[in-house]
Amino acid sequence: MTLKKPKIVVLGAGYGGLMTVTKLQKMIGVNEADITLVNKNDYHYETTWLHEASAGTLHHDRVRYPISSVIERNKVEFVQDTAVEIKAAEKKVILENGELDYDYLVIAVGGESETFGIKGLKEYAFAIVNVNAARQIKEHIELQFATYQNEEDKKEDRLTIVVGGAGFTGIEFLGEMGNRIPELCREYDVDPNKVKLICVEAAPMVLPGFDPELVSYAVAQLEKKGVEFKIGTAIKECTPEGIIVAKGENEVEEIKAGTVVWAAGVRGNSIIEKSGIEAMRGRVKVQPDLRAPGSEDIFVIGDSSLMINEEINRPYPPTAQIAMQQGECCARNLAALIRGKAELEAFKPDIKGSVCSLGHDDAIGLVFGKKMVGAKASFMKKMVDNRALLLIGGASLVMKKGKFNVL
Ligand code: FAD
Repeated sequence: MTLKKPKIVVLGAGYGGLMTVTKLQKMIGVNEADITLVNKNDYHYETTWLHEASAGTLHHDRVRYPISSVIERNKVEFVQDTAVEIKAAEKKVILENGELDYDYLVIAVGGESETFGIKGLKEYAFAIVNVNAARQIKEHIELQFATYQNEEDKKEDRLTIVVGGAGFTGIEFLGEMGNRIPELCREYDVDPNKVKLICVEAAPMVLPGFDPELVSYAVAQLEKKGVEFKIGTAIKECTPEGIIVAKGENEVEEIKAGTVVWAAGVRGNSIIEKSGIEAMRGRVKVQPDLRAPGSEDIFVIGDSSLMINEEINRPYPPTAQIAMQQGECCARNLAALIRGKAELEAFKPDIKGSVCSLGHDDAIGLVFGKKMVGAKASFMKKMVDNRALLLIGGASLVMKKGKFNVL
């Protein structure tokens, strides 16, 4: 008698999904389960490098690699498709081009840009969300420089770049742009004094939650690169001409800009709400073993999930570090389930630190409790980037895609 193999379907080949699959394929035998990985594209991209591709400081092909290069095809079937709905009651996933049944499902489809209902942001601002969005930002900025150079009636506002948000993504993008602008000025014969790089942030501080001394260093370094900070300033609207911000109690001010990049919010993937799964801003508050509330067979990991840090009673920030650790835990729990174990492991994040780049040559970081800035922190950032490659694809992937420009 042959027993039916359980079907495991993993949605999303980002940090969380790919980590789940690459760990699980090592843990289980060919006859233990059928694993299907579904992803929009046939490649994985390093989301944490997208600010570099957006600024044009790293080629977009450097931030992605084929999914086929890291999966074992005798154990994992890869389906390139987009999941549109999860029918939990029927244990089915609806894809754009078909459907899949599952016994166990892992939702790892990442997040989406959160615009908080601010008028015009969806239409007129860019968001650093995937490889093609990054390419569009890079191309758009270059087009602004080229057009400025060639138009008779010069519109200087074209050369203003506004970044909404002084969180991790916004600051890392500003760092790259600070390095890229002098190059763009040389490439397109534009006077650097005409270019403006403005960071607008509604909160009263830059990089909330980061060590204040490190934040001061970051702000000073970015200001040296020409960044102008407008902190405690809320964007009210984005228009084809730029942004409108609140000024004082009742007044507003227009900041004209050829490029607006919105980097101020993450919410869960819209497929979650569409599927009727209980969520907060599209993120599922998971049980300690990473399963959806009340579910025996659906795991949710990465930016699609939400976990509370009990020490401060606030959600853990959505990070690649946590997504990958959840992927490992999810793989162990899936292996336990298919082997009939009832007890699953509770996920415990092991936060090793956080490093925020300020361009390829500078950074700030708090790693294993130690503060670092400058070249040392920048070296650490590249090691963190290389570690993500190592954990998913091993040493050969590091050799192919790793960052070795460590000086
Ligand atoms: P992702 O890595 O975003 O992957 C989701 C995958 O699902 C993608 O491949 C996508 O194509 C696919 N997908 C989406 N929808 C569907 C669908 N419907 N059907 C099929 N496939 C789908 N975190 C850190 O820890 N450190 C950092 O330094 C850092 N820097 C960052 C810099 C930038 C510019 C950005 C944008 C983020 C940064 N983050 C950082 C956050 C980090 O990138 C995310 O937390 C992480 O990518 C989340 O991993 P994930 O697996 O949930 O989703």
